[in-house]
Amino acid sequence: MAPYDHDHSGGGKQGGAGPHCPVCKAPAAEATKPFCSKRCADIDLHRWLAGVYRVPTKEKPEDEEEKK
Ligand SMILES: [Zn+2]
Repeated sequence: MAPYDHDHSGGGKQGGAGPHCPVCKAPAAEATKPFCSKRCADIDLHRWLAGVYRVPTKEKPEDEEEKK
């Protein structure tokens, strides 16, 4: 899953408006879409990583691999 999946601007039904930065809601820049700047991209990436690495303390770490 991509870190930017929460951005729903892929449909193109926003009246011609481009994607907006999910961090600060400013218009996205070409080089850093869907973010307005590298700074906001970094902020969002760090938020996403924080969520990924926040592993719940379960006692069955192999839970996902054993289902085949
Ligand atoms: Zn921004």
